[in-house]
Amino acid sequence: MIQLSQRLQTVAHYISTGHRVADIGSDHAMLPVYLVQQKICPFAIAGELNEGPWQAATKQIAHANLSSTIEARRGNGLEVIAPHEVDSITICGMGGALISTILEEGYKQGKLEGVTELVLQPNVGEDAVRAWLTEHDWALMDETILEEDGKIYEVLHAKKIAGAKEWNKQLFSVDELSFPYAEPIREALALRMGPYLLKKQGDILHKKWLAEIEKLDYIIASLSQSELSQTKAKLAAVKQDQQLIREVLKWLYTDRH
Ligand code: SAM
Repeated sequence: MIQLSQRLQTVAHYISTGHRVADIGSDHAMLPVYLVQQKICPFAIAGELNEGPWQAATKQIAHANLSSTIEARRGNGLEVIAPHEVDSITICGMGGALISTILEEGYKQGKLEGVTELVLQPNVGEDAVRAWLTEHDWALMDETILEEDGKIYEVLHAKKIAGAKEWNKQLFSVDELSFPYAEPIREALALRMGPYLLKKQGDILHKKWLAEIEKLDYIIASLSQSELSQTKAKLAAVKQDQQLIREVLKWLYTDRH
């Protein structure tokens, strides 16, 4: 039986039992093998763009003796699936911009028809993924943030449900945290930091954004050395952003407790 990292286990945990799944950018096909071995999924596709990882996926599936229930298919993004062929799609371990591009291209090709569940794990740029989900009326159902081997990961679970637009509107705009900001700023913060993660207020979220403040310190120090007016504008924007993150963390982790 295959052992998954905590990150991929979190992804697996969100997959609805009985769903046929396509894992896009599957690399060694660890996730589909696990899902089929654990009898969570009756059938899976491991999609891979590149030859090396596609071969690794093929070997892993053969080694697990699952070639009849898991297919390794080589291709770009969702082009490896046909409409209505799977119920769930996972895309993990890539940047949020690439995940959104894969979803957008697949959507335009009709590949999301019949798909009712997405589990997405962007390594960076989570806001791009949340924005894509809300723009395409995928209801964001839950989010998990976790730390493994010194890295912090976010996992997003979305479903195609009736009333998704209203669900997301409520989720992203309702002021449950009583933030002292106007709605557009609250929405932008929720897209960036995660509406569920903000509500859960865990230590890992705190750690992630404290590290972001530190990263911005380096950027500020570097930009401060320039006299160019363009750089000065950028510097002011970065300082404002850093101040906003500081305020949000203070609100969540100090003032309200
Ligand atoms: N999903 C696995 C995980 O989370 O452990 C592997 C992540 S690995 C960092 C990213 C994989 O995505 C690579 O194997 C890469 O070849 C594949 N990939 C990148 N762009 C892709 C695309 N457009 N379509 C399919 N696979 C892609």
